[in-house]
Amino acid sequence: MPKDIENLILGYQQFRKRYFSHPNSDFEELVLWGQNPKVLMIACSDSRVDPAIVMNCRPGDLFVIRNVANLIPPYEDDQSYHGTSAALQFGVCNLDIRHIILFGHTQCGGIQALLRRSPNVCQEKSFIAKWMELAKPAYEAVIEHHFDQSFAEQTTLCGHYSLVNSLRNLETFPWIAERVKKNSLFLHAWNFDLERGILEAYDSEERCFKELKNNENSIEVCQVQTCK
Ligand SMILES: [Zn+2]
Repeated sequence: MPKDIENLILGYQQFRKRYFSHPNSDFEELVLWGQNPKVLMIACSDSRVDPAIVMNCRPGDLFVIRNVANLIPPYEDDQSYHGTSAALQFGVCNLDIRHIILFGHTQCGGIQALLRRSPNVCQEKSFIAKWMELAKPAYEAVIEHHFDQSFAEQTTLCGHYSLVNSLRNLETFPWIAERVKKNSLFLHAWNFDLERGILEAYDSEERCFKELKNNENSIEVCQVQTCK
């Protein structure tokens, strides 16, 4: 058996030992009562940024959507195939989620490809190209305001702008806007800095990303951006 698959099976055995070898396990309750997550996360497909691992979550804690560059499309009622929007609708309308967290990260391959205008992103009829069009406002903001910065800095900035853009797109969904207005649903944008292992949260009043700490008083400004 290939080593990669063997490792997965070893992991699966440990998982079974942890969750299925004793009574009253997390799964027993989850099977009996069904899932009841309060948090929906939209993360990148990148193998390094599994939100359940970063946040040390247990089964049933997170309802997760993953796609290239953790993008949210705007609300489009065109009877087309919208995987991300369908999962959003299920989480918000069926599971009654309380928080939606956009979970971006530094060194994002999708964002890098967009900035490099890589063949996959420029190619006509490329799925990636079409998908990354959603981050065009972020790309344009970086080209306009940060053209003289290094590629690594531009990638991080573009990721930040893209999170703010997706935050706006979330509010174009009527069943999200309605719940946000009633204070029954809260929207967040977080960014995971891979190099430093730090989570930053978007402060919509100050329009900047700040390091996330559990004590609100000790939040430090990590990096200030002017997100339009
Ligand atoms: Zn990514």
